[in-house]
Amino acid sequence: MSENFRPETLAVRAGIERSQFNEHSEALYLTSSFVFKSAAQAAARFANQEPGNIYSRFTNPTVTMLEQRLAALEDAECCIATASGMSAILACAMGLLKAGDHIVCSASVFGATVQLFGTILKRFGIETSFVSGTEVAKWRASVQPNTRMLYLETPSNPLTEVYDVAALGAVAKKAGALLVVDNVFCTPVLQRPVELGADVVIHSATKFLDGQGRVLGGAVLGRRDVIYEGVFGFLRTAGPTLSPFNAWVILKGLETLRIRVEAQSASAFELARWLEHQPQIERVYYPGLPSHPQHALAMRQQKSGGAIVSFDVKGGRETAWRVVDATRMISITANLGDTKTTITHPASTTHGRISQEARAAAGIGDGLLRVAVGLEALEDIKADLARGL
Ligand SMILES: *Cc1c(COP(=O)(O)O)cnc(C)c1O
Repeated sequence: MSENFRPETLAVRAGIERSQFNEHSEALYLTSSFVFKSAAQAAARFANQEPGNIYSRFTNPTVTMLEQRLAALEDAECCIATASGMSAILACAMGLLKAGDHIVCSASVFGATVQLFGTILKRFGIETSFVSGTEVAKWRASVQPNTRMLYLETPSNPLTEVYDVAALGAVAKKAGALLVVDNVFCTPVLQRPVELGADVVIHSATKFLDGQGRVLGGAVLGRRDVIYEGVFGFLRTAGPTLSPFNAWVILKGLETLRIRVEAQSASAFELARWLEHQPQIERVYYPGLPSHPQHALAMRQQKSGGAIVSFDVKGGRETAWRVVDATRMISITANLGDTKTTITHPASTTHGRISQEARAAAGIGDGLLRVAVGLEALEDIKADLARGL
């Protein structure tokens, strides 16, 4: 937007492109293609000599509105929306890397990301070294001459490890690599990786951006030269594009993102403090707690600890499953970032497909539970967990 609006305003107003009807709410353009005035105009559009929509695998006005709004919120030059968070990560890798390249990736990332890098990209000649731990020196030591990408989530899923984005951005720069940060847990409300020094930001819009568990979506953001040439080039050809309907849902989700994330994070902080005092709990993982190993760094990088709390229960898998099964209100589901509180047992679900060794390296034990706090009354959430504990 031309004016220097604050993020709260951008979340509601950025990216709006009104049609000739001057609709107030953002229009949903459910159309697979766009009509040209003439053969000459069709040719000009295809030759990139005239801007405009051609086909919704490339661009669609509703999707473009979402991209512009999210770019404004992340303070990024360019945003490309994708069909899911995983297709955002795939588009990022396929658009920016080639056979023979090397990725340094945090071991503590989303299970499917480990699978994608460690198994699928490997078949295409892209090697990944997984680093466990948050020490910058370990990342530096893993860099090879062919390293082109450093990849992390902060806070990580599900252990909420916090990584120093500015320091790792410097490591990436020195190596001639791109620093890619998955910002799903914080959203731009709590953390803006581009400002901190990341080259690329990844979103699963499925989580907080939609925020009500309705649709899948994703996004890749960063400098125009990186995102437009590389990522969009792959996406428009290969096709894991976001549907306009999902874009519209997420666009409306962004309008309430700040109040949801702030309220859910405030509840999560209180829940984490309460959990720390429960005798059946071994350890609580929450960046907003002073007991968190990277608490100081988290408070520098993030506005608050976020809405996700993980904890180890005493008694391993048996106790963990008992806590899950004793809930009556909290949803037993893999999603997070929803207005409804959700609970998962990562070792047997989201991280169940990676090897036992990889799981151990990532510190995901059998007693670990992850709660993504929603908008219900905090006392009801506590009571639901207390039953199994
Ligand atoms: C869910 C998630 C993803 C993948 O997103 P999808 O929309 O499910 O494909 C990636 N990273 C993190 C941190 C996630 O939580």
